Amino acid sequence: MKVIEHLEKAKNPLISYEIVPPPRGRSIRDITNIVEALVPYNPAWIDVTSHAAGAFYNDTPSGMVERKIYKKRPGTMGICGVIQNRFKIDTVAHLLCMGFTKEETEDALIELNYLGVENILALRGDRPNYDKAIRADRSANEYASDLVSQVQDMKEGRFLNDITSGSPLDFCVGVAGYPEKHFEAPNMKADIARLKSKVEAGADYVVTQMFYDNQKFFEFVKACREEGITVPIIPGLKILKSAKQLTSIPKNFYIDFPDELVEEVMSSPDHAKEIGLEWAKKQARGLLEFGVPSLHFYIMNDTESVIDVVQSLN
Ligand code: FAD
Repeated sequence: MKVIEHLEKAKNPLISYEIVPPPRGRSIRDITNIVEALVPYNPAWIDVTSHAAGAFYNDTPSGMVERKIYKKRPGTMGICGVIQNRFKIDTVAHLLCMGFTKEETEDALIELNYLGVENILALRGDRPNYDKAIRADRSANEYASDLVSQVQDMKEGRFLNDITSGSPLDFCVGVAGYPEKHFEAPNMKADIARLKSKVEAGADYVVTQMFYDNQKFFEFVKACREEGITVPIIPGLKILKSAKQLTSIPKNFYIDFPDELVEEVMSSPDHAKEIGLEWAKKQARGLLEFGVPSLHFYIMNDTESVIDVVQSLN
């Protein structure tokens, strides 16, 4: 089922989860263990992230440095297929512009359709640490809105290479939103205008970057509605687990922590995990009171904390 259908049919707010493929060389068991732990908590759907290939450097015995290009975390489509077909849980496959040609994206959409996956999250991705050369006979999407347009074309049976009457592939499309602004956008207004162009290109819903201050989410939703964005906006939550994340999360995701949370963790760093859990529970309750259609947890493959928060919401 599509995410948008889940939202339309839901009598109560839904809960969805986002998982990351295991590093290359690990087993699918890493994923099935996570999904088995989540099953009792009725995941409405599970997102599986996507990762472009990057450059990795190894010291060699001769003292030289060897550069290798590979995907550290392959398997997005296969993992979606396993969750979708073995566990009968709907999945959302993340698709990126960066590091992928339009031709590869079309192939991925065909594979996902064959696997029964009906949802994708269309993302630009961040520039990898090597530039994949795009051959003259290939093309690439630049922004997420271009990727949404490509999916929209396929929904209407228009494939690349001039196939204009293919079997339509009907995907529900989500896009990313940033309650604290995307780090490259000149300001919030410009970023929300870009978000609107993703929705106008065909996106069915928005899921947000993590945030720790609900007020920022409430203001973001208000600004989106004022701009004429009417699709569901789903808040993304990540539970703080350690004092070290007070610096790593802002560095990696360009967000701010509220003063109260920083002060609590800094005055008691050994209890960061408990403080983070209580904060997430309070945040989730506040969002539900606000009337969000669903909560989306970035679980980064650690189910323990998220299960604790979800149990507390009952
Ligand atoms: P876009 O919507 O394309 O926007 C990127 C920037 O360009 C913004 O500043 C926007 O304002 C600007 N912009 C947009 N259109 C135009 C235009 N036409 N002209 C000029 N400027 C424009 N990354 C991964 O690698 N894998 C994942 O699985 C993944 N999952 C994510 C899930 C969520 C819910 C979120 C919020 C992020 C995720 N990311 C993931 C990170 C994401 O790829 C980065 O944040 C990336 O920098 C931006 O992606 P986007 O789709 O928001 O880009």
